[in-house]
Amino acid sequence: MIDYILEIALATPLRQSFDYLPPAGLDCSRLAPGTRLSVPFGRRTATGLLLAVKAHSRLDPQSLKPALAVLDSAPALDSAIMTLCRWSANYYLHPLGETLFYALPPSLRKGKQALEKSERGWRLNHKGNGLSPDAFRRAPRQQEVLDHLLGHGAIRQGELDNRQLSRDALRALIKKDVLEEFESRVAPECASTTIEDGPPLNPEQQAAVLAVREGLDAFHPYLLEGVTGSGKTEVYLNAIATVLQRGRQALVLVPEIGLTPQTIARFRQRFPDQVVAMHSGLGEAERLQAWRSARQGRARVVIGTRSAIFAQFRSLGLIVVDEEHDTSYKQHEGFRFSARDVAVKRAQLEGIPIVLGSATPGAESLHNALQGRYTSVLLNQRAGNARPPAYQLLDLRGQVMNEGFSPQLLETMEAVIAGGNQVLVFLNRRGFAPALICHGCGWVANCTHCDARMVVHRGSRLLKCHHCEAQNALPTSCPQCGSPQLMGVGLGTERSENFLKTRFKSTTVLRIDRDTTRRKGAMDGFIERIHSGEPAILVGTQMLAKGHHFPRVTLVAVLDADAGLCSGDFRGPERTAQMLMQVAGRAGRADRAGLVMIQTHQPDHPLLQLLIQDRYRQLSEQVLAERQLLQLPPFGFLGVIRSEAPGPNQAQSVLQALRQAIDPGSRGPVIIGPLDPPMARRAGRYRSQLLLKHPRRKPLHQVLEQAVNWLQHNVKTRSLRWSVDVDPQDFV
Ligand code: ADP
Ligand code: ZN
Ligand code: ZN
Repeated sequence: MIDYILEIALATPLRQSFDYLPPAGLDCSRLAPGTRLSVPFGRRTATGLLLAVKAHSRLDPQSLKPALAVLDSAPALDSAIMTLCRWSANYYLHPLGETLFYALPPSLRKGKQALEKSERGWRLNHKGNGLSPDAFRRAPRQQEVLDHLLGHGAIRQGELDNRQLSRDALRALIKKDVLEEFESRVAPECASTTIEDGPPLNPEQQAAVLAVREGLDAFHPYLLEGVTGSGKTEVYLNAIATVLQRGRQALVLVPEIGLTPQTIARFRQRFPDQVVAMHSGLGEAERLQAWRSARQGRARVVIGTRSAIFAQFRSLGLIVVDEEHDTSYKQHEGFRFSARDVAVKRAQLEGIPIVLGSATPGAESLHNALQGRYTSVLLNQRAGNARPPAYQLLDLRGQVMNEGFSPQLLETMEAVIAGGNQVLVFLNRRGFAPALICHGCGWVANCTHCDARMVVHRGSRLLKCHHCEAQNALPTSCPQCGSPQLMGVGLGTERSENFLKTRFKSTTVLRIDRDTTRRKGAMDGFIERIHSGEPAILVGTQMLAKGHHFPRVTLVAVLDADAGLCSGDFRGPERTAQMLMQVAGRAGRADRAGLVMIQTHQPDHPLLQLLIQDRYRQLSEQVLAERQLLQLPPFGFLGVIRSEAPGPNQAQSVLQALRQAIDPGSRGPVIIGPLDPPMARRAGRYRSQLLLKHPRRKPLHQVLEQAVNWLQHNVKTRSLRWSVDVDPQDFV
């Protein structure tokens, strides 16, 4: 007789759960949801997560297979994360199984052991105890390990990274036969509870910290709005300290590009031995380690990128989302969630405060603050003795330009360099030139797989597509007419770098973009050189604009503000303003006043006018007013259904059929399309999209759900892929 059935989620795109019998001979009646089991699935063995133990199956119990084994002694996902995943799967209309597996560290998805029982550790052996305390002073990394051993008696494997000790140095000591290995039980408590002092807070910061302290015992969202350098991070650190003193943990989310070693170091310095980082750059073992220590409570502060929002904690007490407006919080593929929005939901579910911080809050969050749903906290002053930058618009109309630089800009740059300071030149396009054209016949180098131009990379002598993997050798003559007169059109960072190197011969020019920082450690090398303080010109993309402090930069030059002003997307003005503010924030952060020069053909553009008066808030209120008129977010809700297929028309006709099949009713969402996205063909696939819009979320959600069901039952060809995007951030 069969007493109960296990309902199990698998990491498949199928929007359903699977029923199994308990593994032979095992009593699973009390097994908690979130426990992993291995199960037979088709011809293979898969890892599954228990959703529920139930009395009945809708299927014939005789047809059910038994699960093979229980993999966890305690659930791999606790009930808080299970609830958060269920909410997210439902909200983003993403399969629950895939959502739950996304919340697990990669090695656990594959069925590996979740909980460490013991761990390798090392202590000094007899010979080691006889060493003099500075025995390895000629090998500083080894000496660091020795210092640790002398101070703490032992070192565990998992501690090496947190304490920034070198594995190589440890190996060298093992080789020298001064260590012995032992099995170390992992202490569940935190390695340390020390909190170092920061600078005394200014009155605004104090008020901000007090406001957050008042709301520690319940769901309480705050929008912390303060210009770059106003000391937001100090506010986070102080609020976190309070939470830690109450024995609870904190989660800090940062944008992808903002999780620099400098950021982590700043948190580690304040909370020694209590901080772990979580991001996709870590190896599987390190990710598992970080995940475990947060869950066991050993890590009191987790600082991570968007996936860290699904981390587990023993006792989470506060969430911070830094640069909350940043687009990297939204995942653009697969599980298209917004970590910022899931974070707010998580804080609500767990009854804890959340601080959303930004110099340039997104329209959605600002709206919530204006409506009183979020508590608004402002930092108007710059912290310490930094002064706000001065702005200057450079009118390019009729100017004689030199590779994108106006005479006035070049002159100012010269003066800044002569004064021993640094210049940051911002241009958000990498490569040498965004297009290659033939002077003889007008031929243009297009990508054969995308509706896009090939970008000229002169240093590597390549044409590259920035939307797919395609790249070719840079041609020396036109493939159409044979003319050797091929010209790069437009400006990229590589071109600016080349020009600046010839124009400022004796000055260091550093180009910082994705091409020059691909190699591991390259970015750190640049940062080090910049911080050495030598006069230099930094040319770069948004990589340079975010998350860094460059105390010697006193001039920030925006080469081309017009590109952003002409964007077609309704979020264009907001994004442009955020980007420009962010770049401007790099200027004059220490005690040197900064100057921001913006080159434009539209000096009277209202957006620029507000920006140069440091009136971002007013600008975003205008953005909000416009959105309200058009019932765009946050005054209306959007969903996009995308499809793509190898052949033309296929992607479009499925959406056409879908549109006819769903019935939004007279009060349902407006449906627009199918339309071609701006790039109708990408990486060899044709794309189409359907846009749905409604002033309320619920009716939109209902129709999107209908659409998903229809697509699931009607799309049988594997080559046709579709996806649904709730709260889309862009329409590419
Ligand atoms: P934000 O996160 O808003 O950009 P930070 O917290 O990083 O600002 O502060 C900017 C700089 O000012 C940092 O170097 C920080 O150490 C310093 N700082 C912040 N608050 C104070 C303060 N109250 N007194 C002195 N220096 C401060
Ligand atoms: Zn030609
Ligand atoms: Zn391409």
